[in-house]
Amino acid sequence: MSEPFPPTSRTRVVREANRAVYDREAIYQILDEAFVCHVGFTSGGQPFVIPTMFARVGDAIFFHGSAASRMLRNLSAGVRVCVTVTLVDALVLARSIFHHSMNYRSVMVLGTATLIEDRGEKLEALRVISDNLIHGRWDEVRQPTEQELKATAVMKVPIKEASAKIRTGPPKDDTEDYDLPIWAGVLPLITRAQQPVIDPAMRMKADLPASVKKYGRG
Ligand SMILES: Cc1cc2nc3c(=O)[nH]c(=O)nc-3n(C[C@H](O)[C@H](O)[C@H](O)COP(=O)(O)OP(=O)(O)OC[C@H]3O[C@@H](n4cnc5c(N)ncnc54)[C@H](O)[C@@H]3O)c2cc1C
Repeated sequence: MSEPFPPTSRTRVVREANRAVYDREAIYQILDEAFVCHVGFTSGGQPFVIPTMFARVGDAIFFHGSAASRMLRNLSAGVRVCVTVTLVDALVLARSIFHHSMNYRSVMVLGTATLIEDRGEKLEALRVISDNLIHGRWDEVRQPTEQELKATAVMKVPIKEASAKIRTGPPKDDTEDYDLPIWAGVLPLITRAQQPVIDPAMRMKADLPASVKKYGRG
């Protein structure tokens, strides 16, 4: 077991507390398996939750976007955020509709997002976000120009307050419902790549790159 995130008054799981996980390594494993997070923040009293790609490096989460986007404009000021990541592993099909559920692994990180100003750190963060999406692609393609870099804002959220919630296993039905002749169980779900589809605008022949050939998740 790695050093846990001590649960705070804000991150202690109350509902279904038996599903709570505060172990750092377990939390990082969930973050690293995902490539989309949801960033929640309030602006002018209105909550917004923005789905975005991300990567974890060490004890921080990095995400990027257009410097002109509302999310990045708001967060550049050093705004408090709630970042969540969800992996759905299975549908849990019970005998009653009430007890239907999902097997999942989710993480919630509470923290403050800050803008990365340093050029080197920004480039490295962009590389790891790209790598988290499809490993090796960064080195196969044209690198960002100064103008593209300027148009891109990269944010960092240090991971200090975090919790995970994990559900596994079969459905849990009411005792009397186990006598019902209704199929119950779990339907596992996975995310996997299909056959690559070449861009119809390709002007020349090009071999399938290694990053695409080797692509795999989980
Ligand atoms: C795919 C998926 C589907 C779900 N579907 C439902 C649903 O239909 N209905 C429903 O009520 N709940 C659902 N949940 C659980 C839901 O995410 C919340 O845990 C639950 O609603 C309790 O919320 P709360 O704020 O009352 O929890 P509390 O236990 O009061 O939350 C306290 C703290 O616990 C931590 N925490 C709570 N939930 C999570 C979480 N999911 N992941 C990581 N940390 C967490 C946070 O730090 C939070 O601040 C689902 C979860 C997942 C991942």
